[in-house]
Amino acid sequence: MVRTYWFVPGFNEASGNLDLQPFARIDHVEACRPRACCFELYAVGHDERVSEKTYDAIVLGAGPAGEVCAGRLADGGMSVAIIEPDLIGGECSYYACMPSKALLRPADLLGEARRVPGVPVDADSALDPQAILDRRDEVIHNGDDSAQLPWLEERGIELFRGAGRFDGERRIRVGDDLLSADKVVVVATGSGAAMPPIDGLDGVRAWNNRDATTAKQVPESMIVLGGGPVGSELSQAWASLGTKVTLVEGGEHLLAREEPFAGDEVAAALRGRFGVDVRTGAELESVRPSDAGVIAELSNGGSVEAAEILIAVGRTPHTAELDLDSVGVETDQHGFLETDDRLRVGGSDWLYAIGDVNGRALFTHFGKYQAWVACENIFGRSAEAIAEGIGPPRVTFTDPQVAAVGKTLAQAEEEGIDARAIDVPTDGSPGASFQGKDTGGVSRLVVDQASGTIVGATFSGYDTADFLHAATIAIVAEVPLAKLRHAIAAYPTRSEIWLKLLEKYEG
Ligand SMILES: Cc1cc2nc3c(=O)[nH]c(=O)nc-3n(C[C@H](O)[C@H](O)[C@H](O)COP(=O)(O)OP(=O)(O)OC[C@H]3O[C@@H](n4cnc5c(N)ncnc54)[C@H](O)[C@@H]3O)c2cc1C
Repeated sequence: MVRTYWFVPGFNEASGNLDLQPFARIDHVEACRPRACCFELYAVGHDERVSEKTYDAIVLGAGPAGEVCAGRLADGGMSVAIIEPDLIGGECSYYACMPSKALLRPADLLGEARRVPGVPVDADSALDPQAILDRRDEVIHNGDDSAQLPWLEERGIELFRGAGRFDGERRIRVGDDLLSADKVVVVATGSGAAMPPIDGLDGVRAWNNRDATTAKQVPESMIVLGGGPVGSELSQAWASLGTKVTLVEGGEHLLAREEPFAGDEVAAALRGRFGVDVRTGAELESVRPSDAGVIAELSNGGSVEAAEILIAVGRTPHTAELDLDSVGVETDQHGFLETDDRLRVGGSDWLYAIGDVNGRALFTHFGKYQAWVACENIFGRSAEAIAEGIGPPRVTFTDPQVAAVGKTLAQAEEEGIDARAIDVPTDGSPGASFQGKDTGGVSRLVVDQASGTIVGATFSGYDTADFLHAATIAIVAEVPLAKLRHAIAAYPTRSEIWLKLLEKYEG
């Protein structure tokens, strides 16, 4: 039985003509209200255009958040439908994390080899762009998600290809299918590149992250707008393959959310080793097409011409097409679905939002974490997402890398914490000497002096990403520094940086 609204042009109430075939079989009419040129019929019956299926849970979006959530729900015994208009694996697998790291890795390795005498590379050793693009394609499975399907099938998760949208409480339409959820609907529809209101942007071919991670050829030149993690990583990646890159960032530092020294180290490396023209403190005012591709006018009076322009200034959640009105849900001013710490939307017992779409922390690992939190609640085991409040662990995979968790010194001070920064050179441990010459970088702990615990950590320098987890554990578990003195790192690992930091703290 399906409850449906019908708009019937020419419907004759007096004659009782219910000739709605082939659309429906009407079992009974609940209400019939006149409209300007038709009647609105509220009827109960069968809509023969659609097939209707019922599941315990419906998950919208098969990115990292949606996939993990669907898997957990199915493993817990629920019948699950997952809906995806694009590729199973989402943005991360095909257009974001994975291809960007595949493009960055070769230059990373070449840089490391150059720092270690005896490895047969020299100043003239060059990367092979075509081989790197081929490897990137291999990493993203050439945009083919069929390898993901057995994982869904093994768990009995039913896949619907198409964009889902709400059709009332616990009901989702996808193409000709109407699905209903006995227990929950989980929105995990992710985000896409935000396009800022820049004069002329609509009139040029502007790249987003999808274009910049899947391009089949190396552009001759590129303007990158935005010096956050995405803009910085992709500037380095394409510059290492031979593109002449101009990176335009409105703020004074790259990686504005990190310690200022970290963004400055990345800017220096981009300029010095990768030949990127980094312009901080410059806004992009307008763009227009040119013979070469595009000309951009900057706020400081200069202009730049390039074959391509990549926009990397943030993300817009995929909520506009969800018909949220039909369930009385509003988004925040940026389109994100607001959630409580149990990841419920509007405190509801049937609607959850996880991953980028809720705007809490736009990282793959947070999508997966939130999938766990939501599922715990769905299964009646209370859990709260607290990790976002601590300050997400995050890595910018440039060379130097910037790995950070918790608060920066400035953030801690703004929050009224009696904070002290402990800084040591990242290459200051015996283990780092094998890493090669001039790896550089700064490792900083931000210590809450009142409690003697760490509230933030940043590690810049070569290959620092895996330093991060120890700091995350220390922050989440609120381990006093006095106790950390007994967490001894093996000699000669680079983790002895912790010893250097603690010695500096003790003075
Ligand atoms: C260039 C780049 C590099 C990045 N690198 C990293 C990194 O190194 N580490 C990291 O942690 N994060 C990284 N990120 C962020 C990461 O990609 C996202 O945080 C992550 O993909 C979010 O996962 P998600 O499941 O919430 O959403 P998504 O991965 O965006 O998946 C959402 C899915 O929902 C689908 N969908 C959309 N609308 C509908 C609808 N109406 N119905 C059904 N399905 C729908 C989409 O097609 C998509 O497949 C990077 C981002 C970019 C842009």
